[in-house]
Amino acid sequence: MLNGLMMDSQLTITSIMKFADRVYSDSEIVSVTGTEGLHRYCYADAFARTRQLANALTASGIKSGDRVATLAWNDFRHLELYYGVSCSGAVCHTINPRLFPEQVEYIVNHAEDKLLFTDPMFLPLLETLQDEIGCVREIIVLTDDAHMPASGLANIQSYESYIGGQPDQFEWPDLAEDTASALCYTSGTTGNPKGVLYSHRSTVLHAYGGALPDSLNLSARDAILPVVPMFHVLGWGLPYAGPMVGAKLVLPGPKMGDGETLCDLINGEGVTLAAGVPTIWMALLDYLEKTNQTLPALDRVVVGGAACPASIMQGFRERHGVDVLHAWGMTETSPLGTMNTLKRGMEDLPEAELAAVRGKQGRPVFGVDLKIVAPDGQEQPWDGKSVGELKVRGPWVCSGYYKPDSDDSHDEEGWFGTGDVASIDERGFMQITDRTKDVIKSGGEWISSIDLENAAMDHPGVAEAAVIGLPHPKWTERPLLVVIRKEGKAVNAEELLASLDGKVAIWWIPDDVVFVDELPHTATGKLSKKDLRGQFKDYRFPEQ
Ligand code: AMP
Repeated sequence: MLNGLMMDSQLTITSIMKFADRVYSDSEIVSVTGTEGLHRYCYADAFARTRQLANALTASGIKSGDRVATLAWNDFRHLELYYGVSCSGAVCHTINPRLFPEQVEYIVNHAEDKLLFTDPMFLPLLETLQDEIGCVREIIVLTDDAHMPASGLANIQSYESYIGGQPDQFEWPDLAEDTASALCYTSGTTGNPKGVLYSHRSTVLHAYGGALPDSLNLSARDAILPVVPMFHVLGWGLPYAGPMVGAKLVLPGPKMGDGETLCDLINGEGVTLAAGVPTIWMALLDYLEKTNQTLPALDRVVVGGAACPASIMQGFRERHGVDVLHAWGMTETSPLGTMNTLKRGMEDLPEAELAAVRGKQGRPVFGVDLKIVAPDGQEQPWDGKSVGELKVRGPWVCSGYYKPDSDDSHDEEGWFGTGDVASIDERGFMQITDRTKDVIKSGGEWISSIDLENAAMDHPGVAEAAVIGLPHPKWTERPLLVVIRKEGKAVNAEELLASLDGKVAIWWIPDDVVFVDELPHTATGKLSKKDLRGQFKDYRFPEQ
């Protein structure tokens, strides 16, 4: 073998930080904070404080490989932690504060977190858990002394006092690129949460992949608003991809679900790209409609984490001239797996065909291999019709979980089984039709609950829709549509079912509709079909 003669530079988050510090030192970072109003500084300030933080971590005895937890919103201090912890060689463990307290307790103990950095808002949660999380030696509250809430917790201080006395020079260690950088637990539908342990290399490659023109098309001219929480799959990698390209970062703090704050940030800070789950965008579009406002600077929104309803795509495109990038990914895939951007010539497709393409989750980004596999293990063709479990592999896909109880998610060839059911068309566009656990098996055929939900959401009287399969004596399972009505709309079941006619196969049309005031969601804001099936376990279809 003849080796190439190129330098062996390691792909580390430290290299992103040093690059951004030098080349984009004056790019801005603007944060909404819970207690201190709107905060504004630039990359040079952020990384100087990151060096102070690294000194403080060293003083706390944090060593390479130690886990350091965060319970925090998207703001400048969380960003400093992303870099300060990982670039010190420790592991930044982001915890979702919306999890049940028992899950937070499980995760902290499983990760054996040594320090915990928390937003002041979560101190009451930690007070209830303090006796159960003995591995945590110090709690640092993400505020200054003036805003420190009273607390009965031991070993607690403000972030500003923690880093305040430290020098802003630090000799960053030369890390090997496979060093673990961050840890994020995914709450599956069964069993305990599972830890996905990212590396410096996977993070850097993922940031390159995400910045590509057919991904998020990021540049130094962008102002990026990650509405997706930084505790959820590393804010979809934007806290790394942004500094890699020198973009301005706009961080919404605890106000991520608030249409008014998002609108003010987008318009006030000149945001060009915003990223988040569909529910966030529904709140923003509603607010814009009610207040008759527009988003002149915004160029594109990334929608992922759940299927993007057509109403969101239309709302942004037709009313605001904003492009919608539909994306698919998972905690296990860092998360970027596929992105929906058109190929050359596709802009000229007839409108109906274009809408169908845009509803798909998109094409794989270079670095992610996809295949679909039927239950008998047979790989399925890319014909846009055949469905099977989606399997993925690539340098930013997890090869196994952190200290797993058990793991059967990888096959013999190392492909990761996503648990999503999908088709892939001739052009390489993947479409999720379900979770393997949620797919409805009717008369030996599969009905896609997601397609039905999307079709129901097209009705102007529907605010949110969920479809679950319930036992049926003749067909094994039949779909039940559960709907939250839009405020002030009086849609009834017959009307709603009639509206599905022509949009889905006739035998897919749900056997009944139930109207509710609320639907159960998981800690990451997704519909919890498991809880919904539990709520309807005694339900019987009308004909029964
Ligand atoms: P998480 O690991 O919590 O990010 O959840 C990942 C799961 O969210 C995927 O396996 C999909 O089931 C779902 N998901 C993510 N993006 C999409 C999307 N664009 N459309 C449909 N489902 C999605």
